[in-house]
Amino acid sequence: MKIHTYISIISLLFPSLSFACEATWPIVHPFKNNGGYAFLQKAKYSGGWIYHPGEDWNVPTPPGGSCDADKGLTVVAVAAGTVVYNNPRRWGGIVIKHQQGKQAWFSQYGHIQNSKVKVGDQVSCKQAIAEIGDTATKCAHLHFEIRSLLHPMPENGSYWLYGKQGLGSKSQTKRWYHNPRSFLEAKMKPTPK
Ligand SMILES: [Zn+2]
Repeated sequence: MKIHTYISIISLLFPSLSFACEATWPIVHPFKNNGGYAFLQKAKYSGGWIYHPGEDWNVPTPPGGSCDADKGLTVVAVAAGTVVYNNPRRWGGIVIKHQQGKQAWFSQYGHIQNSKVKVGDQVSCKQAIAEIGDTATKCAHLHFEIRSLLHPMPENGSYWLYGKQGLGSKSQTKRWYHNPRSFLEAKMKPTPK
C-alpha cells in the first residue's frame, strides 16, 4: 500500500487528526515581535500616522548582533492560495489570495527579497515564496498582514484609503485587517466534526 493510502485510512479512523496543512506561520524559525510594530499599534509612516494593520515578525536578535540577523530567512505561504501581487522591490512584496468556500482572505508579506513566485502561481501551504529582506525599513523583518478584502493598492498596504490623510479609525482598520496571529491560530485548530 502506498503511504497516502495509510494516511487516508488513519484519517477515516481518526477524523480529528488532520494531515493537511490548513494554515501555518509565515516564517519557520523562532520569532517574536522584536522592536517592530504590533497589530493596531499607532505607527508613523512617511504619509502620516496610521494604525499598523499587520505584525512585524523578527527572529530574536543575537546578543550584540545586528537587527538584520534574520535577513535571508525563508518566508512561506501561510495557506494554499493564488499569488495576486508580486513586487519584492516595493515593500508590499507578495499578496496571496486564499479562497475557502465562498469566503476569501488575503495574506501579505512585506519587506521581502528574492521572490520565488509570480502573479497567477498556485502555492501550497508552507511553500517557500521569498526571503526576509530590508526593503524600506531600517532593520530586516517581515511585515505580515491578513486582509479581509482585496487591496486596491497592494504595494501600499498600510496607506489604504486614509493613510496619507492621517490616522484613520481603529474600527475601520479592524474591518479590513485581522490580527495575524490569532487569525492563523484559529485556522490551525482542527475544526470539530
Ligand atoms: Zn510593519
